Amino acid sequence: MESEERLRDASYRASQFDPEAAGDPPARARAVVVGGGIIGASVALHLARLGWTDTVVLERSRVASGTTWHAAGLMTRARGTHMQTEMASYSRDFYRDLATLSGIDVGYYANGSLSVARTLERLTELRYALTLARHHGLPARELSPDEIAGVSPLLRVEDLEGGVLFEEDATVNPGWAAFATAKAAHDLGVRLVEGVRVTGLALSRGPAGVARVTGVHTDRGDVECDVVVLAAGLWTRDLALLAGARVPLHPAEHYWAQTEPVDGADRDLPIVRDLDGSIYVRHYRGGLIVGAFEPDGRPRTAASIPEDFSFGEFAPDLEHFGRPLARARERVPALERARFAHYLCAPESFTPDGNFVLGETGEVAGLFVAAGMNSQGIILGPGVGRALAAWIDEGAPTVDAADVDVRRFSPAQTSAGYLFERTRESLGRLYAMHWPFLQPGTARGLRRVPLYGRLAAAGAVFGEASGWERADWYARPDERPGERPEYEYSYGRQNWFAAVAEEHRAARQGVALFDLSSFTKIRVDGPDALRTVQRVFTADLDRPPGRVTYTSMLNARGGVELDGTVSRLDEQAFLLVTSSTAQARAFHWLRRLADPSAVVSDVTSGLGVLSVTGPRSRELLAGLTDADLSDQAFPFARARRIDVGWATVLALRVGFTGELGWELYAPVESLPVLYDQLVEAGAPLGLRHAGYRALDGLRAEKGYLHWGADAGPADTPFEAGLAATVAMDKPGGFVGREALAAAGPHRRRLVPILLADPGPQLYHGESVLRDGRVVGRVMSGAYGHTLGSAVGLAALEGDPAEVEEVLAAGDVEVEIAARRWPARVAARPFYDPEGHRLRS
Ligand SMILES: Cc1cc2nc3c(=O)[nH]c(=O)nc-3n(C[C@H](O)[C@H](O)[C@H](O)COP(=O)(O)OP(=O)(O)OC[C@H]3O[C@@H](n4cnc5c(N)ncnc54)[C@H](O)[C@@H]3O)c2cc1C
Repeated sequence: MESEERLRDASYRASQFDPEAAGDPPARARAVVVGGGIIGASVALHLARLGWTDTVVLERSRVASGTTWHAAGLMTRARGTHMQTEMASYSRDFYRDLATLSGIDVGYYANGSLSVARTLERLTELRYALTLARHHGLPARELSPDEIAGVSPLLRVEDLEGGVLFEEDATVNPGWAAFATAKAAHDLGVRLVEGVRVTGLALSRGPAGVARVTGVHTDRGDVECDVVVLAAGLWTRDLALLAGARVPLHPAEHYWAQTEPVDGADRDLPIVRDLDGSIYVRHYRGGLIVGAFEPDGRPRTAASIPEDFSFGEFAPDLEHFGRPLARARERVPALERARFAHYLCAPESFTPDGNFVLGETGEVAGLFVAAGMNSQGIILGPGVGRALAAWIDEGAPTVDAADVDVRRFSPAQTSAGYLFERTRESLGRLYAMHWPFLQPGTARGLRRVPLYGRLAAAGAVFGEASGWERADWYARPDERPGERPEYEYSYGRQNWFAAVAEEHRAARQGVALFDLSSFTKIRVDGPDALRTVQRVFTADLDRPPGRVTYTSMLNARGGVELDGTVSRLDEQAFLLVTSSTAQARAFHWLRRLADPSAVVSDVTSGLGVLSVTGPRSRELLAGLTDADLSDQAFPFARARRIDVGWATVLALRVGFTGELGWELYAPVESLPVLYDQLVEAGAPLGLRHAGYRALDGLRAEKGYLHWGADAGPADTPFEAGLAATVAMDKPGGFVGREALAAAGPHRRRLVPILLADPGPQLYHGESVLRDGRVVGRVMSGAYGHTLGSAVGLAALEGDPAEVEEVLAAGDVEVEIAARRWPARVAARPFYDPEGHRLRS
């Protein structure tokens, strides 16, 4: 490949821009970026644009010599989420303008991309992408098989159901794009030093042992700095570990093949993604490139990749690649006769959930990562660089980063063995069906709730969250013959719809038992405990022992880092309970901000949680305890230590269902006896096991927020509907208060949304329209079995006055998979807006 050869040719590169001229690394810089791939180059450029021109990029070999140089250069914009679609759209425009910016030709060409469907389900999935594209004003349209043949005459279309053409998607030469981005950074003052290997990270330790990065060690001297960004691709995990930070990503082999010239393969052919065939095809210099996202991926340990790997390739396994190649020949018959000039097998890195990792590590202050791109580093690179630079500059994310934040993973998910096993399916998942509630098939069972065996015996179907196996729903073949304890996926009602309807009904009308042991539980103890929680959380927590307070934790921009309950256990002890995905974030955040005489301990693993909820929950517990559970003696939002059967538990009168109920926190060794006695005592009352699918529907009806889906670190509590959790005037203030006080108009308002029609489902990301105009998006949705249709939370966006107008009118439409449905938005929850049932 001519242009790739030129990328390796030092004299040709030097004629464009010569990083070698930078000499040795400086002794000090404000920021050090490790890695000169597309991500490192982009982070450096965007930092410089924000004034961080005292930034140095340290690259072990040459710019783009890692994974970046051999990417296929596909630039498709409709991604799985709004945030990533925005990032990809920015990236495409960035590449379009990059030659002008840098003076270097990056081979940008807007030929469009075409995704084709072999099945009706896939066509539905593509229609979801069509809606997302339209939401962002990206030109896209559905095509029939005949129209596909017109747009891309090389394709065989007889077996297709249809497709979607995303006009103005593009291709770019990735290596040159990274090089040109690096040059643009250099033009703004960034120093780029090639041939220097980072060998370690220098740390300082605060009073409680909290680490902060102060520089890097290299094979050519040390560099002191305030901030380090690890953008070292597949090497990022090992580098982060040198500082004790755990970043879950793992390399895998990735293949493409390039043909010699093929008749009809001209530059205007759109990129074709035959997702059901796990392949893509694009033009390349009169021929084609065929790439694979095969379901049986091949993980490769970082240790198996030579230290001096640079512009490297592995020997391709043609038997392995032959299978997707055969499917490519089915789709493009001209490939039957084509001669292949080059088979490429090279590494890319993947994460356990298919999203990249971004942001500051919890373990080490000042240490940021941008890596694990899951084969989308070119598509997303400029957007990722912009987002991380803003994050560094402002001290907090400016985009909806919850589902890419490096702290979303548990430390348990960073072991090499787990990552290797999960990575078998990671590559293929990019093109596999993205079913709602899709569960990974590999590396299951990393973290089992203590009652796993008992719940499985009760019919539990488990879903994974942060490595936990949690009961999602319960199969009951005794009630519904033939019901099997496994997910059967579709975009409509899935096989668990009837089971969850019963669980939901039990919680609303009788009594239901949820195992919530995967909750994160963190204690803050000691003479300074109150001072610490007062500073970290937004609510006034200086309340008598036994009070439970729903509150949130903010970042420096006033964005919500998590929500949860804080119980005051005694004068000097507090217990935070928050979601499982917030474990690393909550623990490290509290540790960093703790006063000297406060001890922060993560007690997640030691405490199990059973939630008993529903109008008959008091009756159930009353049969097992002498404690007075009346509303007067044990009101809502109180915590008491009580005996339940043989166990002594911490009982919290709270819940996520909107019904009367208690969460019972017990040491894991007492959990089995507690469970057995609850189940036995509950049988005559019709106690039913219930799982996370039911919980989701119950909380959606009640309008309760699901942090990470409905709101995240870029939203203020006012935008997230959490105003009631904020005590702006509490003595001493709290982290984020000043930012809140100075915040401009709200950028969105989170409101309940209910479909008028009982048929369709709501998941997330669907567009909300009023008079044909996009006014917002669904943040999360579920089926409301009490309300009788899909219900969720939507973010209404734009000018606050217009948002109020939409809300006052109430009637909106929701676009789901390219079809519009009438719906209502409201200022208060559709179910029990006064909260009577909670306080009954
Ligand atoms: C076959 C193939 C096809 C692909 N096709 C596409 C595509 O069409 N579209 C798309 O979006 N993505 C594609 N990708 C993925 C894309 O190439 C990657 O996501 C992207 O290049 C990752 O960029 P990066 O900067 O994170 O990593 P890299 O490019 O690997 O950069 C990391 C750099 O860090 C340096 N480094 C490592 N350790 C150290 C150290 N200790 N000190 C100093 N420097 C260090 C390395 O030398 C390397 O240059 C493809 C990948 C492959 C393998």
